Amino acid sequence: MTQGNDFVIAAMLEEGLIRQDQLDAGTRYAEEHELSLPEAMVATGVVSRRQMAICRAEIFECPFVDLEAFEVNIRNTQLLAQSSAERLVAFPLFDLGDVITVGMADPLDLHAVDQLRRLLKAEVDPVLCEHRALTELIAQSYSLTAGGVDADSSAVEGAVGTLAGGSPAAAAIGRILAQAAREGASGVHIGPDEHDLHLRFRIDGRLHERPVPDRAQHPDLVRRLKVMASLDPAQTGRPQDGRFRFTHEGHPMDVRVSLMPTIHGENVVMRLVSSETSIKGFRELGIAGDIVEQVETALDRPHGLFLVTGPAGSGRTTTLSTALKRLNTPDRNVMTIEDPVEIRMPRARQLQVSPEIGLTFAGALRSVLRQDPDVVLVGEIREAETARAACQAALTGHLVLSSLHSDDATDAIERLRGMGCPPFAINASLIGVLAQRLLRSVCGSCAKPDAPDAHLLRMFGLGQDCAGLVRGAGCGRCMSSGYRGRIATTELFLMDRAMQELIESNAAAETVREAAIESGMRPMWRDGLEKARMGFTTLEEVSRALAIDAVSGAADVYAPRSRAA
Ligand SMILES: [Zn+2]
Repeated sequence: MTQGNDFVIAAMLEEGLIRQDQLDAGTRYAEEHELSLPEAMVATGVVSRRQMAICRAEIFECPFVDLEAFEVNIRNTQLLAQSSAERLVAFPLFDLGDVITVGMADPLDLHAVDQLRRLLKAEVDPVLCEHRALTELIAQSYSLTAGGVDADSSAVEGAVGTLAGGSPAAAAIGRILAQAAREGASGVHIGPDEHDLHLRFRIDGRLHERPVPDRAQHPDLVRRLKVMASLDPAQTGRPQDGRFRFTHEGHPMDVRVSLMPTIHGENVVMRLVSSETSIKGFRELGIAGDIVEQVETALDRPHGLFLVTGPAGSGRTTTLSTALKRLNTPDRNVMTIEDPVEIRMPRARQLQVSPEIGLTFAGALRSVLRQDPDVVLVGEIREAETARAACQAALTGHLVLSSLHSDDATDAIERLRGMGCPPFAINASLIGVLAQRLLRSVCGSCAKPDAPDAHLLRMFGLGQDCAGLVRGAGCGRCMSSGYRGRIATTELFLMDRAMQELIESNAAAETVREAAIESGMRPMWRDGLEKARMGFTTLEEVSRALAIDAVSGAADVYAPRSRAA
């Protein structure tokens, strides 16, 4: 890697990245220690290896790839023998079929590029990587695929221990689950197609591909999972569902396994459900402080109906679990009716509905009420019978929590009316409705000031004002998406005298909404806008999550659009 190195030092001097006295000291150090000049500059701490690599890339007009911030597909070890990778200090980064992008310590070494072209049997697109990072990557990748030790074996050992059985398949499952837990994944998909096995993690609502175990291991993995989930290992032709418990770094997790036969083998989907200990507070969900206070006050009421609404995947279950954890004190009898039971709570009695045997939400609720509960969680109100039963339970001295599929907080009232709850029952039972959506959070590692386009700014009534807005540039920690983690955006409807009068008089949904905003309800778009202005998310994300574009002809109360005028 000597080629052109003196140019690099010269260029760095010219650019003012190093001073003449530093160069002089470096030159002396190089002579004394028999090092090359660049090595000496690194050794004396004047420049980092990374800075040097970036500078070289600029001089030679060759792209620089920062391996520290790069997700490498270790399956690419199959493209190039370990000995060649080590000798040429090169690793295939992306395989685009005809062209393979190869990370090299010295991409100007045309002889090496030529050899790579022959070995890979493809056109080679060389990019520059920092020498040491690249040799580490090569060592790590080949040790992983050789069936060797995982790079992060401490977490894995803990996991494997709880899974029992020291078979390679059990170890592989432990490794996958530990990695999924570390990355905060809610789901793990392992599926074979004609040629490959694919491993994907669902993180923040989206699937992300991960390096997989060998395809040949697939039958063993599936067999092992069936044993762990108490399923029939011999049954391969029918869908099966089961569950098992998995402990990651001391935190128990329920893993729900679903197996589906496909033409290429059994497709595995695991859902990772945290147990009660992982539930934090409302604030940790990203709910604004003033709303948290109001929600907590509402939950202090001895009876009534409190609803959390939003479409599927809007985080309703997490919010309800957080509420339930707060209410699950020894002096309260807490019962839940769920489909399926999501998070297990100590003390609470939790029922799973099973319509096949006639145990519906409404039927289960009637039985539960005979068990003298103080607090009842009804997983979801989907039809009229459950809606009426929930209102009734709230009217007869119980605190009932439930969720609904509705567009916004006031729309929930409309939905209850539509399911046959008379206005007087809604007025007497409903305490409040928290509507929510999840917004992806801007990655803290690569956030930079954002200047959204004029249309987007106008939609939020912002004019030219971009103060506080940020977006993620994309980095290794967020897999170049610019987002990491999610927060809730909410609006809270609270029942009061004025609202009751409107509902009693069968006022139109828009009228109720207008009045609620008038009396202080902060609409979700406004909450989202505030979160964007505080740098938690982007305007783009708010408009996507709230489908603001889709709202048409609505009054000011529905969308910010009309504020643009
Ligand atoms: Zn990032």
